[in-house]
Parts: sequence; structure tokens; C-alpha cells
Amino acid sequence: MSEYPLGCSLKIPDERRKRLKKKRKKRLTNLIATDSRTRATFAKGYLFEPGRVLTVAFKGGDYDLHKDIARWAKTWEKYAYIKFDFGHDKEKQQFRRWSRRNKKKKADIRISFESTKENSGYWSAIGNDIDWEADGEPFYPANIPTMNFENLRSRKKSKQRAFVLHEFGHAIGFLHEHQSPSGGCDKEFRWKDEKGYIPTFSKKDGFIRDKNGLSPGIFTVMENEPYLWTTQQIRDNMLMFKRDYAFDRTKFDPKSIMKYYYEPWMYTKGKKSSCYSDQENTTLSELDKKAARLAYPFPKKKKRRSRR
Ligand SMILES: [Zn+2]
Repeated sequence: MSEYPLGCSLKIPDERRKRLKKKRKKRLTNLIATDSRTRATFAKGYLFEPGRVLTVAFKGGDYDLHKDIARWAKTWEKYAYIKFDFGHDKEKQQFRRWSRRNKKKKADIRISFESTKENSGYWSAIGNDIDWEADGEPFYPANIPTMNFENLRSRKKSKQRAFVLHEFGHAIGFLHEHQSPSGGCDKEFRWKDEKGYIPTFSKKDGFIRDKNGLSPGIFTVMENEPYLWTTQQIRDNMLMFKRDYAFDRTKFDPKSIMKYYYEPWMYTKGKKSSCYSDQENTTLSELDKKAARLAYPFPKKKKRRSRR
């Protein structure tokens, strides 16, 4: 069980939650899903205008790490008409940087690698929330991060890349696939302990299967060491999104980079669950690419005049 839910947790400070709710309400009332062919989970209210150039800056991390992150993130540019500008200076071998001391806006996307009480794990602000102002103040002030990768280098390379692709997916407005209103994963997850489960705790993995092979429920595992998610975090990151969010989707995509890998025990039907995928998704799925094109369509190329 040690490898499980490594998924990112989107942490929203409580005092902001209310304001965010207000924004969602306002934006989503006049939005309806119009394109029934779209296959990924994105809410139109989070998307930028196609062609948007998003500046990116780092706080912490070395040149080599920044180079990898920039390269992986730019994979999205092949499929979505959007640009990430990392402010790369090849001669000086450095990328754009931001700091908590400087309140002047250095970049749209501000990456940190923190592991503190206030900021840890893997997360990203969603889409155009980074541009949003509430009551005359930016929702994400210029001196706080909008994306975090805690100890990214401690992971396997393929996993590092998966995290970067996933978080940059959030950054352009994509949401968790396992929370898609099309997936029905709410009904599939094992929320509660299996009947008769004897609490069994391991220091490394937290609550694990008991000696009779019975599984703990998601709440038992995630609310305790080593995860320590709050009930709200579990809800925000795992519960299905409401249909009135104006999602564009038809079909659930278990191969999406936006879906977490969950071990079979987390589903009441185990491997037979429709929400189960047999491996961790580490690259963009075909449907991710398609959704990116639909969310951010490239301008149509003008026909070249014949030279004859
Ligand atoms: Zn995520």
C-alpha cells in the first residue's frame, strides 16, 4: 500500500473557500456544456482564452530540475493552444524566479518545492483562478505559490514527469478525471472500513489490511498518518463534481493523466471497478490530447497561395 494515493491534493485555505464558491456560482450560472464530443473533465469556467501566454517562475530547486519541469510542462503546448514562458536564459543557465518577499508579480504560475506545515505535497491552482480578483484583491497574491512539488526528485523519473503533466493540467483548467460526473466513482470507492475490519497500523503505510485481509476505508486511511488529509480535503479531491458545474464530458477516461491511480482495495469492487485502471498513468492519454485541442483550439492555418 505504500505507493497509494500519491495524487495531488488541492488545498484551499478556508477563508478563501467562500470566495471561491462565490466565483464558481457567478461563472457557472451562464455556462452550459455545449460540445458533447469533449472527453475530459474540464469546466469551461476555468479555461483561459486560447493562445494565452502564461509566465512561469520558480522558487527553489536547481537548474537541472527547472529544465526538466519546463520540458515536461511544454508537452501540453503540442495539443493545447497555450504557451508556458519560463523565462529561460540559456547563457546564464537560469529560469525566471519569484520570492515570497517580493510582492510584485513575477509570473502567472509560481512554482515552489516546499515541505512546510502551510505548504506541502503536490498541488496547483486551477486555470484562471490565478487571474481572479475578489473584493479588489488577487485571489492568489503575487508572493504566494500557485503550484507545489514537494521533494519531486525523490520520485522515479516517470513519476516526476507524471506529476508535472498532472499539475500543469490543473493549471490550464483540467480537473480530476476520477471526479468526473461521468465516472460515477463515488459509488465505487470504499469510503468506509470493511465490515469487521480490525484497525491495523503500520508506521510507514498508515492503516493497512488486517490479518484477515479486510481493508480499511478511505477516510480511515487518509485522515491518519502518514497522509493526514482533512475531511474537507478528501471531499475536495475525491468526491464527484456536481453536474451543475457545466462540465464538458461524455465518457470517463481511465487513462487520463488527470486521474489518480488507486489500488484495488480502495474500490469496493476491487479491480473490477469501472474506475480502476491497472497502472499509474504517466503520459497524456489520447483523450487528454483531444480534450486539450478542444479546450484550446489552434487558430486555423491560412491557405498558402500557390507559387505557380
Ligand atoms: Zn490533481
